[in-house]
Amino acid sequence: MVKMNDNYQKLPGSYLFSTVAKKVNAYQKAHPEAEIIRLGIGDVTEPLVPAIIEALHGAVDEMASRETFRGYAPDLGYDFLRNAIAENDFQARGCDIQADEIFVSDGAKCDCGNLQEIFAVDNKIAVCDPVYPVYVDSNVMAGRTGMYNKERENFDGVIYMPCREENNFLPELPSETPDLIYLCFPNNPTGEAIRKSELQEWVDYANKTGAVIFYDAAYEAYIAEEGVPHSIYECEGAKTCAIETRSFSKNAGFTGLRLGYTVIPKELVRGGVSLHSLWARRHGTKFNGAPYIVQRAGEAVYSEAGKAQLKEQIAYYMRNARTIKAGLTEAGFTAYGGVNSPYIWLKTADNMTSWEFFDYLLNKLHIVGTPGSGFGAQGEGFFRLTAFGSYENTLEAVKRLKSM
Ligand SMILES: *Cc1c(COP(=O)(O)O)cnc(C)c1O
Repeated sequence: MVKMNDNYQKLPGSYLFSTVAKKVNAYQKAHPEAEIIRLGIGDVTEPLVPAIIEALHGAVDEMASRETFRGYAPDLGYDFLRNAIAENDFQARGCDIQADEIFVSDGAKCDCGNLQEIFAVDNKIAVCDPVYPVYVDSNVMAGRTGMYNKERENFDGVIYMPCREENNFLPELPSETPDLIYLCFPNNPTGEAIRKSELQEWVDYANKTGAVIFYDAAYEAYIAEEGVPHSIYECEGAKTCAIETRSFSKNAGFTGLRLGYTVIPKELVRGGVSLHSLWARRHGTKFNGAPYIVQRAGEAVYSEAGKAQLKEQIAYYMRNARTIKAGLTEAGFTAYGGVNSPYIWLKTADNMTSWEFFDYLLNKLHIVGTPGSGFGAQGEGFFRLTAFGSYENTLEAVKRLKSM
């Protein structure tokens, strides 16, 4: 008889956002009149900007005639998009990344989850705590961790790097040496960013130990401060130790369209093996390319009109972020993030647990956020609010929070 992948059995119960959704739906059903404001899930709400819509329409029309119809896309992405990415996201910032080092995908979540496949099962991973759950869960599924430890509320065999107030929510170099290090900055969920000099320490550490850094820069577009790196390749030596993933979801509203990419420099070699070649082989075997229409939409992100329109869209969300953070501070909360990212990470009131605070906000103020403990044991006592709502809803939420 067939045997199942037992690693899946190690994953504890239901996923964070499904639990949140269940609670919210149950409350709304019981209180149909309640006007619930959702500042929980990290999904965008603003429509696609005109430059992107125009590119989509144009690409759709091309599909309607024999001369311009496109079938399978090249597995690694169309050159027009890979060139635009290399020039705008990297070369314009002084990073020597070439178009053929870019792998276009249908989103960063898939890349975050799939990349571990090219590494041996006995590698040890290091993650921040709290953390975007995909990095850990995909490694659990692959058998790269031990069992779930109910007491510690995390997995055996994983190096967790606490990110707390006392270290400004930045991980410290671990005492046990990891093989694969997951970093995400600006961070989801804490909303905090890393300085270039601080990231340089990680690059130096990885080059010294032979580890590889998987750098998730999904929130790069929200960086507002000088000295905060937009790419890990701004650090010296990153090309020999780092993979970077980006998404079009948060900078351009592609959460429903689906587009992302991963950079693997050709110089990244371990044990004589090129990681670029392994990922190209994997991509070619298991992925048939992101849709042509969506890649054309991605190209429009880098057009003059697209850039200008998206700058405004980001500014809209960041006004929400400032509004939430200022309102929380005024209401007496301790809040972090929200300066270089769309996330505000606040301490719960009256030492409530994250879930107690979730229930309190839902029941009393009809506001939905995300319990910090859902992102890891070190997230207990914290709560995440997002700037992705409408400005009107954000103002209303702040008004309710101040009434607490
Ligand atoms: C939203 C998000 C992603 C990816 O999103 P896709 O929509 O799959 O491109 C990746 N990493 C982090 C940390 C995110 O918050």
